[in-house]
Amino acid sequence: MKIFLDFDDVLFNTKKFIQDEIDIFRKYGISEEIFKKHYYQYGKNKKGKIIKKYNLKKQLQGIKKELNINIDNIENELRIFLSIVSRYIFSDTVLFLKQFERKELFLISYSKTEFQKLKIKNSGLANYFEKIKITNGNKEEEMLKFIGKNKKEELFFIDDRVDYILKVKKKIPQIKTILLKRKEGRYDNEKNKYCDFVAKNLKQALKIIKND
Ligand SMILES: [Mg+2]
Repeated sequence: MKIFLDFDDVLFNTKKFIQDEIDIFRKYGISEEIFKKHYYQYGKNKKGKIIKKYNLKKQLQGIKKELNINIDNIENELRIFLSIVSRYIFSDTVLFLKQFERKELFLISYSKTEFQKLKIKNSGLANYFEKIKITNGNKEEEMLKFIGKNKKEELFFIDDRVDYILKVKKKIPQIKTILLKRKEGRYDNEKNKYCDFVAKNLKQALKIIKND
């Protein structure tokens, strides 16, 4: 069996994390509006498609330019903030991961940035996974690299976004998809025909996998 898991809003309380991040900015006189204005940077992926990315350094540089302020102190505080992110792991995450062998677990996260790498690394979850892949491309392409020829192998994909689920299911029809709809999530996606199951949390997702 192989289980492919998303990181943000699935294993990690990204909404709470961003709220706390905004609070730090506010402490230094930077409003949520300014925070959001500089939050995304736009670039192109390998296929030339425009993608939005988050890069903390670039966000701070943008704010520094606009407000003409010194950012050394906030940069230091954010560095500390980013080093203790394990508290944003959902309470059922570790329990879920412990039910499986390492070789069964794969983390597939979107947005290949230093920030995302650091967030995942400092979450303390890395050791539970056989492989961690952060990509700007398609999740399904990355996943296919880990899926062998054995069509009978049980495969699961857990994500909170139906757009990813749709693309994965279309490319890998034998995979069973679970739409995770946590009340703490940022996206309240509605189930569509590409979602085989819906779960409110990882405890429910575990039941689905074990009973299937
Ligand atoms: Mg997500």
